[in-house]
Amino acid sequence: MNKKKIDFTTITACGECCTGCPQKINGICKGCIEADGYVPEWAESGRCKVHACAGNHNVQFCGICDAFPCEQLTSIIHWNPNIVEHLSVLAKQYQEQQN
Ligand code: SF4
Ligand code: SF4
Repeated sequence: MNKKKIDFTTITACGECCTGCPQKINGICKGCIEADGYVPEWAESGRCKVHACAGNHNVQFCGICDAFPCEQLTSIIHWNPNIVEHLSVLAKQYQEQQN
């Protein structure tokens, strides 16, 4: 069975997709790609560090970063115990779509 293609331009650094999020639809949050990481969720620290780090590493998302999985990622996204697995699956699909 063919997997549905993912539009990776909509995938955030931590492997989420803001498209369809009620906060975005209601204009509360622009979405972290559009807002370059300056989203309400991270307002206290100014900018999402994962988003900023992915930009510094020149990658769309952490799963395809040379340093993945790093401690920063797992400590910032502490609420998701499956973050490494999730990003690994995404990275695999990303590589498959490049072929
Ligand atoms: S944690 Fe950071 S990279 Fe992930 S969706 Fe939120 S703002 Fe974007
Ligand atoms: S160093 Fe870690 S947080 Fe930064 S882009 Fe790479 S995997 Fe993500």
